[in-house]
Formats: sequence, structure tokens, C-alpha cells
Amino acid sequence: MVPYVYDFTEGGRSMAALLGGKGANLAEMARLGLPVPPGFIVTTQACRVFLTTGAEPPSLAGELADHLAALEASAGRSLGQPDDPLLLSVRSGARFSMPGMMETVLDVGLTDAGVAGLAKASGSDRFAWDSYRRLLQMFGSTVMGVDAELFERALARLKEFVGAPDDVSLSASDLAELVDTYKALIRDETGEEFPQDPAEQLRRAVRAVFASWNGERARVYRRRAHIPDDLGTAVTVQRMVFGNLGSASGSGVAFTRDPATGRPGAYGDYLPDAQGEDVVAGVRNTVPLAELERLDPNAYSHLMGHLRVLEQHYRDLCDVEFTIERGTLWMLQTRVGQRTAEAAFTIAAALADEGRIDVDEALTRVGGDGLARLMFPRFDASATGDPLARGVPASPGAAVGAAVFDSAEAARRAARGEKVVLVREETTPDDLPGMVAAQAVLTARGGKTSHAAVVARGMGKVCVCGAERLAVDVRGRRLVVGDTVVEEGAVLSVDGSEGAVYVGAVPLMDSTVMRYFETGERADGVVDAVAGALDQADRVRRLEVRANADTPEDAARARRFGAQGIGLCRTEHMFLGDRRQLVEAMILAHTDAERERALDALLPLQRADFVGILTAMDGLPVTIRLLDPPLHEFLPDHTELAVRVATAARPDPHDVALLDAVERMHESNPMLGLRGVRLGLVVPGLVAMQVRAVAEAVVECRRSGGHPRAEIMVPLIATVEELRLVREEVERVLAEVSASSGLTVDCPVGTMIELPRAALTAGGIAAEAEFFSFGTNDLTQTTWGFSRDDVEAAFFSAYLAKGVFPVSPFETIDRQGVGRLVESAVAEGRAARPDLTIGVCGEHGGNPESVRFFHDAGLDYVSCSPFRVPVARLEAGRAAI
Ligand code: ADP
Ligand code: MG
Ligand code: MG
Repeated sequence: MVPYVYDFTEGGRSMAALLGGKGANLAEMARLGLPVPPGFIVTTQACRVFLTTGAEPPSLAGELADHLAALEASAGRSLGQPDDPLLLSVRSGARFSMPGMMETVLDVGLTDAGVAGLAKASGSDRFAWDSYRRLLQMFGSTVMGVDAELFERALARLKEFVGAPDDVSLSASDLAELVDTYKALIRDETGEEFPQDPAEQLRRAVRAVFASWNGERARVYRRRAHIPDDLGTAVTVQRMVFGNLGSASGSGVAFTRDPATGRPGAYGDYLPDAQGEDVVAGVRNTVPLAELERLDPNAYSHLMGHLRVLEQHYRDLCDVEFTIERGTLWMLQTRVGQRTAEAAFTIAAALADEGRIDVDEALTRVGGDGLARLMFPRFDASATGDPLARGVPASPGAAVGAAVFDSAEAARRAARGEKVVLVREETTPDDLPGMVAAQAVLTARGGKTSHAAVVARGMGKVCVCGAERLAVDVRGRRLVVGDTVVEEGAVLSVDGSEGAVYVGAVPLMDSTVMRYFETGERADGVVDAVAGALDQADRVRRLEVRANADTPEDAARARRFGAQGIGLCRTEHMFLGDRRQLVEAMILAHTDAERERALDALLPLQRADFVGILTAMDGLPVTIRLLDPPLHEFLPDHTELAVRVATAARPDPHDVALLDAVERMHESNPMLGLRGVRLGLVVPGLVAMQVRAVAEAVVECRRSGGHPRAEIMVPLIATVEELRLVREEVERVLAEVSASSGLTVDCPVGTMIELPRAALTAGGIAAEAEFFSFGTNDLTQTTWGFSRDDVEAAFFSAYLAKGVFPVSPFETIDRQGVGRLVESAVAEGRAARPDLTIGVCGEHGGNPESVRFFHDAGLDYVSCSPFRVPVARLEAGRAAI
């Protein structure tokens, strides 16, 4: 039969699923010969039985008794033995670290009868009473369900009464009195006495640790960390060692390197005369680890030795909890430690340099999310106070600016050179100019995939969204949080990495990593580490990385950041601004001649745009998408126009015609309306004009010695017929330009795959397409039937909270659904045309987890915003290992 209990000597690091991380690593340390108080571990399997049946497995009691007997034999005394009680700690610990989320009970086995024995054996009355009150406090709250706050309050009252500044100033008799208070409290709150049978204490503590798996805190944490709900926790039962035995004792935590910066050398905190839980609870101020060297050089040097052993063994940064009992050092916990992004890159590079891991493994130790964080300026953490509000950390970085409450004001102030933070209830496409002008965007509603978040990430702007405590008063031009009022123009600091907002200007630290990408300057060790990781990623990755860029500036930046071309050049913004009138004229044209005039006027403007972009990306592919959005997006707002026409004494005839057109073109669901290829097929001359602009730009670039590589991409096709029709037109225009210029202009023609029907008929489409590019934003919308702008504000947060999906499908590609369409389209497309080039454009192209999927699905490239290019390069490298 499989045992439910393992001795430390029977376990090891590889058994974390069964023994929990804490148990498995304690066993590993014991195996390495480090000083670990002996003990045993009840498996997660036993916990799962308990959670599903409501009772411990029948054989558990016997196994526990056997292991306890062995522990007692080795200690030479028994649990709770009155003249010299053996005391135990009963500790939670799941497969994945859930720090502080579950329960631990210390000093189990102590009773009224044992206190005197413990006092005598240790020579300290104070220590014995302190241990007993700790047990009552932890057992009372964790096992018996008394509100922990009540114990805290009783303790605080006593300290105040006797005038003790801190816990250590309480005398033995003070603590004895506290024990009486605690016992009464337990009796009053539960109607039950604190159990005086040590075996019963142990049994109930184990059960309470099992049950803490389903505690509120643990459940919330798991949901956020995407840890499955059915793993259960292991329970480690271990002999107590005592850090609260006077000034030669104490507890601390240590890291083998600095977890904030990655700098080598041990780092940590120590608290004399304390048990481990005091260190984290912050009951007294700790001293830096270096101080321990002075207090107890012997224990310190042992600790340094153990840290070296651990780092050598785990080949990574480790953190430990330790306790010193009267000069003897005990190791109570270790694990591969959490670290900041900066430390992750620095440590991976250092370990590779030291020859402890190879360069591929170093690459697995860092990630795209961390790299993205390093690319943004940060606040100086030592200078932040309490935040005004917290929200979703939607787009990382830090920004300082004056609060403004609408797009126009943002643009106005930015034009004067002022830095602004755009604060909105939530944003819409109308806020775009304001978002462009702002340093940061702050909203009261919406999650990570809200309009504000998506747009801000695409632009590399700082964004905190869903800061629910904010009351945004656009009319009053102010923002209210509790009793704090922030008027327009007041300075806010927005931390998009942490999801926090501060009043006033918090000092900023520039990102050296970003400067490196922009200029090649290597200002510090973090930059060297990042550069090394990217070099390795570039060596091993199979996926190419292109950028989504619509302007020569973006194209140039993308190139500096390592893009191997443009995977998506949108042409719609080329129709905005001053050119809007020409577009209006094109839409409103009554005759072919009128329309042609408008198109003719647009042609040279488009051509100049393309020349700029093709020049910036010379020698690399530039995928130009034909006009995609619904035409009415280029026309004025209906309501505004209707009001203008209705209220004018003599309405402007142009306005009347415009209103008529706007009304004619109104769609109740524009996302599924006249857009994409459909536009090209119903607006005569539009495709021809755009293709001619591309072809003539190619000619112009070639004449000035360049190597332009334009590709033409048709959006939103559902059937191959659409593509065939557009393709004929494209080829006709290319032939004309070739003939008139005397240069052969040969642009590959391909299509976006962004409707389920296109994905399902990809084989047929491939016959007409030289490349595919998955538009995973629209493909996600149409596969799920979600209108992104609508669903995100309306119910995504509820869906995420209920666990319908762990993460928005707009953020990370939905492998089972959308991913399956991608896979089948790749297979069919390649079967029909083996040399078909396949990529993806859209937000997913820069999302770490999605990049991995695109690698697995066999795509040729991902395309993402210029700022995400290094992230995609890194992740493509990691995916290839
Ligand atoms: P968490 O997972 O919340 O860190 P732990 O199981 O590590 O919980 O226990 C909490 C505290 O109790 C730790 O700080 C540790 O130092 C202390 N502790 C645990 N076991 C023992 C022991 N055998 N002797 C002394 N202190 C212990
Ligand atoms: Mg711990
Ligand atoms: Mg699309």
C-alpha cells in the first residue's frame, strides 16, 4: 500500500507533488546533511482524501503514530511529556508555494502540565510561558476558529497595562496571565476548553492544515496564481527548535543573492530572541543579516556555508528560513526564491558565467513579462508612500503627469509640452488622441483587456485600469477617492507595473534596458544580462519576429528593437487627419468622376507614406493591409451632425449630404458589417488606388537604390472567391505599373485568416494566397462570438472571477478553441501550398504564452507592436529550447 506519511529521510526534492514544496525541500536539505530538525510529512494524497470524503484515510492514524514513535525515540522524550515535553510544529506546504496562505501551528504538545517541565528543562520560565501563549494563540485561531484579532487585542491590552514596549519586555508572570486570558477567550468563543491531550492537539492541527487548503485566502490566491484547486496540501510535522530562548537565540530569513537586484552575496534579516513567525509578522524591527556576523560569528559562518551548499545544489537563487537556538543553527525551510525581473536576468547571466548552468538553461530562467517590466521607467521604490488607489496593472511602467479628464484637454496641455495623465471612467476610441498625448492612462472601470489597457499596451503607455475606488467627475473636472479630491492639473504618479496611483510626483528611474534598445548603450549589468539572453534567443529561435508598424518612425524603432520586417502595416490611419475630407469626398461621390478625383488626390499621399515605411524597412518584408475598418469610422459622429443640421438656421448643404451618408451607412453591428475585403469589393477604385500607391512606392524606392519588399494583405476574407476577385485587381494594377515604369513589380499577395470560415476552408484559400497572417483579435471575437469592446466592460471581470476562463482569450490565445482553428488552417494551408508563409499579427503576437503556442503550431513568424519585439524574440527563443 502507498504510504500516507514519509520520514524526511525518505523524501526529496523531486517529490514536491506528493510532499509539497516545503516538505520535499526539507527532506532534500536533510539529505544534503544540513541541520534540519527531524520530522515527517503527511502527503497531499492524504489531504485529497480528506477534502473529498471529509475524513482522514483510515490508515493515517496508525502511520502517524508510528512516525511519531520513531521521532520520540530519536529525541529521547515523548510528545508533551510533562517533565520535558517534546514539542512539534505542524506546517502546511503545497506543491506550488502559496506563502502565508495556509496555516501552521507551532509548539504543539504543550499543556498545563508541560509548562513547568519545559521551564525546568530550558531553564527559562519566561520562554515556557511564551511558548504556551503562542500555542494557545495559533491553535485557538487556526484549529478552533477563534478570531485571531481577539488574541492580538488581548496581547496589546496587556502590553499597555504593564507598560511593555514590545513582546520581549513581557515577564514570565505577564505571559502566564496572558495564557489565562487566552484560555478564557477560547472557552468563551467556542464553549470548549483548550485540549490538554497532546495527541489530540496533533490530530486536530493536522486536520486544520488540511482544511486550510480551502480557506478563503488560499482559494483567492490560487485563482490569481492559476494553481489548480484539487492539489491539496501536505503537512510537515517537525520537532520544534526555539529562537525565543533569549538573546543567543533568534530567527531569520536569508537569500543566497539579493532577490531585488540579483547581486551576489547573502542577503536577509534577523530577529534576535524570536520565533520565525515574528520575522514576517513585523512585531519588532529586524536587523540586517550582516549584523548576525557580529552577534554570533559561529552561527553566521555556518549559515553562509549552508547557503553556498544550497545554491550549488539547486543551481539557482535560494531563500531559507533559519532559527538559532542558543547558538545552534537550524534550517527550517528552503526553496528556489522569488525575484524581481532585474534579479532574474542578472542571476541567470551570472550562473551561466560561473559555468553552473548553460546558456540555454539561463534562457529558461528569464521571461518576456519580466523583460517588458524592465523596459519601462520605474518609480524609486524608496520614495513611494501610500497609494491613492489601486487597480489592475494593465500596462507596465511608471509615469508622472497632471490629471486631465478628457481627450481634448490632454491634447491641449501636451501640445504645450506638459505631461499629463488621462483619467477616465473608461476609454473609447474617441479618447485615442488623449491617450497618444498622455504619459499614462488611468481608468475606474475595465480589466486587463479593456480598451484602455489594450491600446495603452500597444502604444507602450503606462496604464492602470479598474481602479474602482476612483470616482471620476468629468463635469467637475476632478477625481474623488474617499475624502481626497484631485482637481484637474494636480500631479499624479501612475505605476502600471504595480497597479498603483499616487498623489504628487514620485521620482522616476529611467530604464537602462530601453536605452540599450534605442541606442545600443550598455549602461549596467542588467543590460548585459538582457543582451546576452536575447543573443541566445536569437541563436536558437525558429520563429521570426516582425512588428506591427504604420509609420516610418515606428518601423525604424521596430528595426532597432530587432524586428525582421513588418507583419502588419495598417493603412487606416493614413485616411485620418487632413485627409479625412478626401475620404468623405470618396464616400459621398455621386459619380465615378467625383470618386476618381478623390482617389486621385489620395494616391500621392498614400504613396509617400509607403515610400517612408519601405525605406525604413529596406530589405525586409513589409506586409501592407488594405483598408480594413468600416467606412463610417471615417465620417463624423451621427448625433453631432444631426444636431448641427437640425439647429442651423440654414443648414450647410455639405452637412446635409454628409448626414444622409452617415445615416445610409449606419450599421447596428459594424464589427460584422461593411469592412475588410467587403469594402474593397463594393467601393470601386479603392483597392486599385491602394495597390497603385504600393506599387509606385516600390518603383520609387528601387529607383533610389533601395530593396523594397512590399506584400499585399487582404483583410477579413470568408471565402476564397473574395480573395480571387481582389487578387485579379491587384495583379492588373501591378502589371500596369510594371509596364509604365519598365520595372517588374511583383508583390506577394496574401490574406488574413480572421474568420472561422476562412480558417475552416484554408486549403482552398491557400490556392490564391502566398501567405497567411492570423488576425487573432478578430478570430477570437468571431470564434467566441464576443464583441470585444462590449464584453470586456460588461462581464469579463465576472467571468474571470467565476473561473469561466483563467485569463482573457484576448490576452492569451485560447488554445482549445481559437488555437484549434489556427492549427487546422496551418495544416490545410501547408498541404495545399507547401511554401506558404504563415504568421500572426495582433496582440497575441507579443504575449509570452501565445508566442509559445505559435511556435508549437509551426508558424513562420509573429508580429507585434515595436515595444513587444524584444519580448517576442526572447519568448520565441525560450519556446525553441
Ligand atoms: P509559511 O509557509 O507561512 O512560511 P511555515 O510552515 O514556514 O509557514 O511556518 C511559519 C513559521 O514557523 C516559520 O517562520 C518558521 O520559522 C516557523 N517554524 C516552522 N517550523 C518550525 C520548527 N520546527 N521550529 C521552529 N520554528 C518553526
Ligand atoms: Mg515559511
Ligand atoms: Mg482584423
